[in-house]
Amino acid sequence: GRPMCECNTCYTGTDCSVLLSNCSADVESGDPLFLEPYWMQHAAKSAVVLSGWHRMSYATTDNSKSLELEKHIRTLHAAVGNAITDGKYLVFGMGSTQLLNALVYALSPENASSPASVVATVPYYSMYKGQTELFNGRDYEWKGATAKWMKSNKTNFIEFVTSPNNPDCLLYNSALGGSSVIYDHAYYWPHFTAIPEPADEDVMTFTMSKLSGHAGSRFGWAFIKDENVYNKVSDYLHYNSVGGASRDTQSRLLNYVKVILAEIGSDGDIFKFGFNKLRKRWHKLQVLVSSSSRFSLQQLSPQYCTYFKKIRDPSPAYAWLKCENEEDTNCAEVLMKGGIISRGTGFGASTRYTRLSLLKTDDHFEMLLQKLKPLVTSPDENS
Ligand code: PMP
Repeated sequence: GRPMCECNTCYTGTDCSVLLSNCSADVESGDPLFLEPYWMQHAAKSAVVLSGWHRMSYATTDNSKSLELEKHIRTLHAAVGNAITDGKYLVFGMGSTQLLNALVYALSPENASSPASVVATVPYYSMYKGQTELFNGRDYEWKGATAKWMKSNKTNFIEFVTSPNNPDCLLYNSALGGSSVIYDHAYYWPHFTAIPEPADEDVMTFTMSKLSGHAGSRFGWAFIKDENVYNKVSDYLHYNSVGGASRDTQSRLLNYVKVILAEIGSDGDIFKFGFNKLRKRWHKLQVLVSSSSRFSLQQLSPQYCTYFKKIRDPSPAYAWLKCENEEDTNCAEVLMKGGIISRGTGFGASTRYTRLSLLKTDDHFEMLLQKLKPLVTSPDENS
């Protein structure tokens, strides 16, 4: 059991079985704790012991990057069939978050007469805007939603394409042809989406946070086709943090990638585990939400998946909930009054929408259903 101080949100007592009254359902963040039970089931195989004298050096086998981990990550993409990695450089970052700005920097033209316009399609992951505005580079500038630029000259743009998207979990392609594109494939794994074909774009990012669930290890990677872009990203990582990803983290995660690879196709397949958990959550939420007309969810359809070799149900990381009643103009506030903490801002979208994370623990999800039930069936629905 867990020690007392580590009970999940809303539980207390020596064995964490006592539900706290007046506790909110906190489904605000994308913390991927739904995978915690998977690693509990693989506790012995995944355990890593690092002695005090291990990993002291700045350097690993390839300067800041473990070649052993690189090899296993490429093998994993080939086994899953979600990305073509041949002929592309690989860089490691402190989470994919670090690489997002490294790529914006690297794709920005040098000495151009005007800065590159950084854009994304609404609803977009809020980090792109927040990060681009905070770092405020001379060579690039946040320019908001792609919809605003459809009719303009498409040169000197850097477009973020998130596929599947956070928050609505749909597969997206570039909206503006002719610009540089950063494909953020954080969720392009069979837990979260069908894999119709391997991604093969020139710039693609992935993250361990959503693959294995080790968000706290802060590890992400990017495949980069162009050597010049790769060199600029490497420079950025050097000056930013002497080479991006922690060497301890690389050591720890190598073991998890080995476990994931060894279990593919067996009962211990992490993708099967993740898919089944999220598919069930989505189904339960859908049944509840569709029992009235107060709320609606994004439309997701069953789709053929080359990984599972069958048509599979949706299993999204997030619910993108819309408040349908005319007076419910701020959906996150409506939920908050009902004891549900969701994320309604930052996506560049209307406040009629809010995001519910389906990635947290079973306790968080059960609490969400419990709090949502009275809201869905509220008698003043048509008042
Ligand atoms: N991209 C998307 C679309 C995300 O949702 C997230 C995490 N919420 C990230 C990137 C960043 O992940 P990390 O820095 O943990 O790799």
